[in-house]
Amino acid sequence: MDEQQLRLHGKVALVTGASRGIGRGIARRLGRDGALVAVHYATSAEGAHETVALIEKDGGRAFPVGAELSAHGAAERLFAELEAVLRERTGEGSLDILVNNAAVPGPYGDPQDVTEADFDACYEVNARAPFFLAQRALGVLREGGRIINISSGITRSAQPDKIAYAISKAAVDQLTLHLAKHLGPRGITVNSVAPGRVDNGGPMFSNPAAVERMAQMSVFGRVGQPADIADVVAFLASDDARWITGSFIDATGGTLL
Ligand code: NAP
Repeated sequence: MDEQQLRLHGKVALVTGASRGIGRGIARRLGRDGALVAVHYATSAEGAHETVALIEKDGGRAFPVGAELSAHGAAERLFAELEAVLRERTGEGSLDILVNNAAVPGPYGDPQDVTEADFDACYEVNARAPFFLAQRALGVLREGGRIINISSGITRSAQPDKIAYAISKAAVDQLTLHLAKHLGPRGITVNSVAPGRVDNGGPMFSNPAAVERMAQMSVFGRVGQPADIADVVAFLASDDARWITGSFIDATGGTLL
């Protein structure tokens, strides 16, 4: 296909946490759809370079951008680097698509055992960082832009042993709701995509008994793959989804049914 016919041709996307797992799947898919993709990572520079190489192998364009998101000022630092690279590559610092995907999973255990430090460690990456990244993006997002927040099916079910993580993801859904109204006049849509169990390449997914247990949670009898989520994100990023905003898209493979 002619490059100019690709549905995200001319668009610039930032995908946080794209050094592996679902974020890598999203970055690859947006790259295949023609976007120039900023592949964000925190500790895995090697993983981010691998994602960039995979995108380039598919004929796409991408570059890595590193930032630890738990610290104050992280959004500013990330965008300063991002804009510098974009100005070099495109002549301007504008962005079209922000995918807030980076997150930490824990803490897991009895609600009584969650410490303030555990809670903060989860909340600062999963909830505070997406808010300040979105806030910082407002100045550079073009009309018709997209903010896609990766939530979790856990926000619609009760799992007391993951309460702190669930609270952090529920905050992401609130980010979606309120920003969607705020950004409507600029033609920018804001949506949440909620995965269920998705094989992110972590150790749990090489344990056949654990995979079988997780597979049974979905009505389709399998665990999700990063592409199952990436395809939904690609739809929301495209012009086909221009009339959808403020939505919570259940991408759990029917886990909540
Ligand atoms: P993952 O494989 O654990 O990867 C997490 C990504 O986030 C990595 O790229 C990591 O970067 C980045 N990250 C972690 N801590 C960070 C920090 N402090 N600062 C900046 N970046 C940080 O994740 P995943 O399982 O693919 O999940 C992706 C998204 O889907 C998350 O929002 C998660 O909550 C959501 N989700 C996942 C599942 C699932 O079953 N996998 C289910 C529901 C929702 P580095 O590797 O460079 O450190």
